[in-house]
Amino acid sequence: MSTTPPAGLHPRLPTPLQEVEDDRFDRHGVRLTLKRDDLIHPDLPGNKYRKLALNLEAALAADHPALLTFGGAYSNHLRATAAAGRLLGMATIGMVRGDELADRPLNPSLAQCTADGMRLHFVDRSTYRRKADPEILAALLRETGAEDSYVIPEGGSNPLAVQGCTALGEELRGRTDVAAVACGTGGTLAGLAAGLAPDQRALGIPVLKGGFLGDDIAELQRRTFGARTPNWDLDERFHCGGYARTTPELTAFAEDFEDRHGLSVERVYVAKLLYALTALSEEGAFAPGTTVTAVITATDKAPGQDQSSTSR
Ligand SMILES: *Cc1c(COP(=O)(O)O)cnc(C)c1O
Repeated sequence: MSTTPPAGLHPRLPTPLQEVEDDRFDRHGVRLTLKRDDLIHPDLPGNKYRKLALNLEAALAADHPALLTFGGAYSNHLRATAAAGRLLGMATIGMVRGDELADRPLNPSLAQCTADGMRLHFVDRSTYRRKADPEILAALLRETGAEDSYVIPEGGSNPLAVQGCTALGEELRGRTDVAAVACGTGGTLAGLAAGLAPDQRALGIPVLKGGFLGDDIAELQRRTFGARTPNWDLDERFHCGGYARTTPELTAFAEDFEDRHGLSVERVYVAKLLYALTALSEEGAFAPGTTVTAVITATDKAPGQDQSSTSR
């Protein structure tokens, strides 16, 4: 499968690997490195670029007139899809969860989507929940006049997305023992694990409460590679109450990490990942001599804010 990025996106690949000194790891003989996937692209950070790249190629190759995808009102995936459409000159349609939002002013995330040319369509929550049902999907496409669109699922996790994320694992071959990433849908972990060498492991930190994610990730790997890879685990203890929830302890941890390391810590995903790895190190979960890599999928910035000074 081709790994050339769609012309016009210009990602920074491979992403930098950055060493950090932190006594909570040092005193256990553990080395911590940060895989700066947030620097891939100013508008399509981290895993969102990796998940979209092969889908964009497929959509372009088959001459689809538009990209259509799904997300909540603050979805990073919706924003990344809108930005990709702008950069590639493709129309984009965003199906947003919650028809009550149609009568309200757009939040900054959705405003950025429309500024990038995305057409938004607000879907009532019960229909939205059933969007994977082929009949419901077909009706939604008909209603919006989008029958010929290239459809990307919520969160962007389909087999091409998983395939795209194998490059993240491949970039880490020979560089680490454990590669850890925060999980929403788990597509990134599914690809990351498959791209690693056999002596390396992947660790996923779910940011949602649930318990079904392990099955979803195994299923994504079966659909993509024909089998589950045996080299990953989840630690489900660090969701801090659920998606976008936080605790005073997590907030204090993130602020302290920013002070120590000068990295702006994205709060929905990355804070929980770093918090989990620090707790695991302090628990003695990593043997002395282990190198642990945290995949930094985003840094905090306002949607659309220019980051080009650090990315190129
Ligand atoms: C979407 C996202 C994730 C999770 O990716 P999945 O493939 O859905 O597990 C992690 N970090 C950030 C910053 C994201 O936007």
